[in-house]
Amino acid sequence: MKQLIDPFGRPIEYVRLSVTDRCDLRCNYCIPKGFRDFEEPEDWLTFAEIERVIGAFGRLGVTRIRLTGGEPLVRKDLPGLAARLAALPGIDDLSLSTNATHLDKHAVALRASGVSRINASLDSLRTDRFKDITQGKLDKVLAGLMAAKAAGFSPVKINMVVMAGVNDDEVEDMVDFCIEHDFTLRFIETMPMGTTGLSASEHYVSLQLVRKRLEKRFDLIPGVMPGGGPARYVRVAGTELRIGFITPISQHFCETCNRVRLSVDGTIYLCLGQDDKLELRPLLRAGATDQDIEQAILTAIARKPERHEFGDKPEQIVRFMSMTGG
Ligand code: SAM
Repeated sequence: MKQLIDPFGRPIEYVRLSVTDRCDLRCNYCIPKGFRDFEEPEDWLTFAEIERVIGAFGRLGVTRIRLTGGEPLVRKDLPGLAARLAALPGIDDLSLSTNATHLDKHAVALRASGVSRINASLDSLRTDRFKDITQGKLDKVLAGLMAAKAAGFSPVKINMVVMAGVNDDEVEDMVDFCIEHDFTLRFIETMPMGTTGLSASEHYVSLQLVRKRLEKRFDLIPGVMPGGGPARYVRVAGTELRIGFITPISQHFCETCNRVRLSVDGTIYLCLGQDDKLELRPLLRAGATDQDIEQAILTAIARKPERHEFGDKPEQIVRFMSMTGG
C-alpha cells in the first residue's frame, strides 16, 4: 500500500476538506465582523472535482477525511457528497466538524451516508454569551447535538475554544454538561489566525492552567482516544467522560502532524500556520489526468513545512480559519 511521506518523515494520511468558506455563525475569534470576501460559487470545487481529488489522495495512502469549513452543512447536499467520498477506495474514516446549527435536519442522512464521527463547536452554555460570541442561537445547536446522539453518532465530540474573560469560567459547567449527555469534550487554545473581532493573544489561556484547575474538582486519569488527532486525553474518574486538550500554543504537536487541508477553491494548504500551498483547481479545469493530480499532490506534500510559528510570530498569518478550513 502506498504512503505519503513529507520531507520530515511524517506519514500524511489525513485530509481536512473544506466544502465551503461560508458559515451561518460569526464566531468573533474566527471571522472578522462584516467580512464578505467569500469565494464565488464558480470557484468552488464541484462535488465531481472533490471526488477526483480525494480519490487521488486515497490512492496515495490517505485513509481519513474530515468535512469542514466554514460550516459544511451550509453547502447543499452535504450528505450526497459524503456518500460519494465514503465509497472511494482507501477512504475508511469520514468525519464532520460542524457548528451543529443544522444538524437536527441532517444527522440521520449524514449517518446513512457514511459519516462515522462528528465534532461540534460549543463555546458557551449561556444563551446570551453564546449569542455574543457567535451571533447565533444556542437552542438550535443543542437541538443539533441531541439529534446527532439520537442518530447514533458516538462519540459526539464537543470543541470549546477557551478564552480568558469570555468563557473560561465555564469549563467546569462544560464538563458537567458532557458527563450528563455522554459527549466527549475537547478544550482548544486560541490561535492567532488573522485579525478578527477578538484578539487571540489578548484572550489566550494556556490549557495547562485549565487542566490544573479541573484537577481541583475532578480526578483526571491520563488516557487515549481513537481518532488520530492532536488532543491529549484524560478520563474523568467515576464517569465515562474523556477530555482532550488541544494545545497548539503551549505545547505544539507539529512533530506528529499527519494532515493537509484542501480549501473550497481547491488549494492544498500544508500547514494551518504557514502559507505553503498548491492550487489544484487550475489543473483540474485544464483537463488534468488522474496521474497529473497525483503528481501535484506529491509536489504539494514535498512543500510541507516543519512546524507553525504561532508562538514566535503571532502576527505572521493573514488567513482566517474559515478560509483554510478549520
Ligand atoms: N463550522 C465548523 C465548526 O464549527 O466546527 C467547522 C469549521 S470551524 C473553523 C473549526 C474549528 O476551528 C472550530 O472548533 C472553531 O472553534 C475553531 N477555530 C476557529 N478559529 C480559531 C482560532 N483562532 N483559534 C482556535 N480555534 C479556532
